[in-house]
Amino acid sequence: MNPDSPLLQQLQQQLARLDTQQLRRTRRTTESPCAPQLQVDGKALLAFCSNDYLGLASHPRIVESIREGALMYGAGSGASHLISGHSRAHALLEERLAGLFDANLVDARALYFSTGYMANLAVLTAMADKDTAIFSEALNHASLIDGVKLSRAQVTIYPHQDLHQLEAMLTASQAAKKLVVTDSVFSMDGEIAPLPALLALCERYGAWLVVDDAHGFGVLGEQGHGVLEHFALRSPNLIYMGTLGKAAGVSGAFVAAHASVIEWLVQRGRTYIYTTAAAPALAHALLTSIDIITGCEGAALRLHLRQLIMQWRAAIHTRHWKLLPSTTAIQPIVIGGNQATLDAAAALREQGMWVAAIRPPTVPADTARLRITLSAAHTGEQIVQIAATINQLDS
Ligand SMILES: *Cc1c(COP(=O)(O)O)cnc(C)c1O
Repeated sequence: MNPDSPLLQQLQQQLARLDTQQLRRTRRTTESPCAPQLQVDGKALLAFCSNDYLGLASHPRIVESIREGALMYGAGSGASHLISGHSRAHALLEERLAGLFDANLVDARALYFSTGYMANLAVLTAMADKDTAIFSEALNHASLIDGVKLSRAQVTIYPHQDLHQLEAMLTASQAAKKLVVTDSVFSMDGEIAPLPALLALCERYGAWLVVDDAHGFGVLGEQGHGVLEHFALRSPNLIYMGTLGKAAGVSGAFVAAHASVIEWLVQRGRTYIYTTAAAPALAHALLTSIDIITGCEGAALRLHLRQLIMQWRAAIHTRHWKLLPSTTAIQPIVIGGNQATLDAAAALREQGMWVAAIRPPTVPADTARLRITLSAAHTGEQIVQIAATINQLDS
């Protein structure tokens, strides 16, 4: 191809514009298993950026289960779920997941997806159409935003945590079908959505409540079942999405809801139907992961993580930067400018620590931030170390 083609020139200008706005993203290559101590591009770093909240991504029993699953089921599924790719491993995982929600959902069933992104697209495009009104929380994850767009529904964005506005919107809506859509734990802020009040509104106004618990499943609730257990919610209106690549340490996601909702997703969820089923070995390993999450080991890991969060909040003292009031493992520090945030992350890296610099469009303009995520795999000393280093940078 001609290197001077106008098409290429246009694209290169777009990339150059990212550079001038300090918005060009780069990838670093990790050379060791997911853990607090990482080899990254040849350098040892202490990492505070994974979503591996319980440290299960490198758990020996789960790694062994992938091997066992591959020996039992082979490397790949070979087809989509509705053709011949739905294996015993997928079926067992879905039964196990559905059982976690007996207390929260009526006639619970679960459906395993290859990714949370795909699960959200399936829920929104299958459950909503042009005669549906969707009320979407302002800080929702990109996958929910994309699902809402693809659904062709009438969309209203309600301001972050503003239930009065939401209620006014629900009152005014004439739509035959209504969906309220929210993250449970906001991925860039760490706050927990007021789900009991949201659910009460949904029941009053006859709306489904779609909850994305990507950062709650495995972490919240006494037994790690997630945000529905945390708030002891129960309703037939709930449509729950949990991911399995974060606290569960493997990959994929699931939707849990009334059996009729799940049956509809099997019939109409395009991102479920038109894709090759994930490797059965992953579903097999996830059975081990769920056993760990819901057993004593999971309870001990959650307790340790809660202690680390308290230790962090006691140790961090920023002056100009703003620590957000989060009680979860997501602990952002808002710096504001893109370059200032990149500089802070670079200074931390100089001192052997890896923290994500989050910039627009992932967060609103002028709210670029360090996103520190804590994991049960961290030690108390490591938490004190990162807090002291950040305190010093902002002194
Ligand atoms: C990570 C994430 C997803 C996507 O899940 P994947 O399994 O990584 O595709 C969806 N919603 C939220 C809030 C997330 O943080």
